[in-house]
Amino acid sequence: MHIQIQCCGIVLMLVLFYFYMRQKRISLDTQRAFLGVFWATFICIIMDILSIGVIQYRHVFTEPVAKFVAKTYLVTLLGVAFSALSYMCVDIYTKKECYRKQMGVYLLMTLAGIAGIYAVPLYYQYTNDGADVKYTYGPSVYVTYGMALLFFVRILYLLRKEKDKINSRRREAVYLWLFVWVAASQVQFMYTDILIVAFAGAIGIMVLYLKLENPETNLDRSTGLFNSGAFYQYTRQLFAKDQDFSIFAIIFENTAYQHVSLDKRAFIRMQIVEYLLRIEDAYSFKNAEDEYLIVFPNMETAKKRVEDIQRRFASGWGEYNGDTVKPCWLYLPHANIVNQAEILLYLIRYIRHDEKTFTENRFHCVEKDSVDKIHREREVVQLILDAMENDRIEVFYQPIFSTSERSITSAEALVRIRDRDGKIVPPGVFIDTAEKSGMILKLGAVVFEKVCRFITKYPLERFGMQYIEINLSVIQCGYEHLAQDYIDIMERYKIDPKYINLEITESASTNAKKTLLNNMEDLISYGVRFSLDDFGTGQSNLNYIVDMPVNIVKFDRSMTNAYFENGKAKHVMEAAIHMIHGMNLEIVSEGIETKEQYETMEDLGISHIQGYYFSKPLPEDEFIRFLEDSLRQNRDVG
Ligand code: C2E
Ligand code: MG
Ligand code: MG
Repeated sequence: MHIQIQCCGIVLMLVLFYFYMRQKRISLDTQRAFLGVFWATFICIIMDILSIGVIQYRHVFTEPVAKFVAKTYLVTLLGVAFSALSYMCVDIYTKKECYRKQMGVYLLMTLAGIAGIYAVPLYYQYTNDGADVKYTYGPSVYVTYGMALLFFVRILYLLRKEKDKINSRRREAVYLWLFVWVAASQVQFMYTDILIVAFAGAIGIMVLYLKLENPETNLDRSTGLFNSGAFYQYTRQLFAKDQDFSIFAIIFENTAYQHVSLDKRAFIRMQIVEYLLRIEDAYSFKNAEDEYLIVFPNMETAKKRVEDIQRRFASGWGEYNGDTVKPCWLYLPHANIVNQAEILLYLIRYIRHDEKTFTENRFHCVEKDSVDKIHREREVVQLILDAMENDRIEVFYQPIFSTSERSITSAEALVRIRDRDGKIVPPGVFIDTAEKSGMILKLGAVVFEKVCRFITKYPLERFGMQYIEINLSVIQCGYEHLAQDYIDIMERYKIDPKYINLEITESASTNAKKTLLNNMEDLISYGVRFSLDDFGTGQSNLNYIVDMPVNIVKFDRSMTNAYFENGKAKHVMEAAIHMIHGMNLEIVSEGIETKEQYETMEDLGISHIQGYYFSKPLPEDEFIRFLEDSLRQNRDVG
């Protein structure tokens, strides 16, 4: 029996251990479990060497001692299998109780295995000349291999069953590790005098180290801080343990540096990083080029440190005083108001980009209400995605009455979502979120296509209708390809563009206005007409009507209501009507609910009336029935 191979294994492991310990590490459960496997394998190799030695000198140590040591080596093999299972479970069962429950069962099995190994006999196989022991065999060995096999099968099973919880890199590394073990035991089985199983353990550890457990993969190379992957792993672990903790984010928006040239910024940044590396009782992560996250496992410490950090920044860096660099701070005293690492990152991004006051206020303390808002928004995003995927976007139509023709001559298409329970969700719930997330482009196109389909199915003229009004969001108006996309859809459905009237609202930025004008130009030359929606909400002014090539101005419900409640508003509206008519544009008055309101609007010379007085927005088939009924009534009256 030779021990050279085992000695190589020991050297290999010591080298790995040296590198492992030298690196900056984060306190992760997976790394602790890895150390468990490491030490189990190390002890196993040592016991292998020891048992070979004791068997060789069994005449000195006596037979029972030699057998005891040989059996203890077998026990350590079981220990490796047990630690391997624990390494797998740490990843799968992130909740402490589940992990403990699983490991409790495996521990009992291991203890039973150990009892078995010591209880049953172990035999020697001698070399041909009978002078030396070649290897050991017998029931004790079979119990070990049987149990180890059981554990390995369990690992394979978990790898397959829980594959969603284990990332592919980890799965691949564990497969490779198992393969090394199985291949080595096969070789040892066939060539019984080559004792390489324990050495294979060392190789396996090297595989795990290189592929998964090298702490360097958690570091950001340019700064030496932990990277965003490590942040994700670490916070995921804290959430799984239901441990509350604090996060302090330091964010360098463009406004952070006052008149500092780029090379000086690099210098200041390095000083800041040096400082972050030294913060005690916390881990510092670089999440993005301009964003650093400090995680405090202890919330009390966090409170104090957050003030220290701000004070440190205020004192300046080298020759630059505290006014040179003014980052924005985002403080989450209770990070577990969210419950997932992904949501945590989403939250930070959301607050950075959404809160208009972010750069003005500089210091933001994030409490539960912000998180609730984000949760609601995520739910709405899900609602929209789900509705788009499952064709649950519906278009309702609200009739518009022409006072001159004394009939319904147009309608406004208004989007609705039918949720999973069949309930109708109004646009007020989801339009904002659709705009913020950019989904409005797709949603708008879906609505437009549905209206085109409606027009092909029910030729408008047959129902005394002239056109349908369709809302455009400001985001759609600022989208360069809008005109072409809509023209493509109309071509596909062979729609005469005179049936389409698009409603725009006032855009905030001049850039968006430019794109909108280009889009309008293309669509108008194709034959589409436009309305200006929401007039009188403060979103529209008379200048805008002058600038925009619209045919219709829609008075918002708030404006028509104000007319009846407020003397001043009356004059404003009358003046507006006068001017709009002077520009040769038509007016639609929205939100008309009573006969009195209707008659007043008619007296004011408004050509089109929309409101509950005629009808609420209706689903397609009800709307068609409504049109048929009103045609019939008109005919009867006529
Ligand atoms: P809007 O374009 O100003 O549409 C008129 C809104 O006033 C509709 O609400 C309509 O149901 C409501 N309304 C009409 N008459 C009356 C009335 O007499 N009394 C009352 N209380 N309300 C009345 P809805 O359908 O909830 O839509 C709200 C807003 O959502 C729309 O305001 C529009 O800005 C937006 N929206 C609706 N559909 C779409 C769409 O397909 N795309 C885009 N981008 N926005 C849409
Ligand atoms: Mg509208
Ligand atoms: Mg409107």
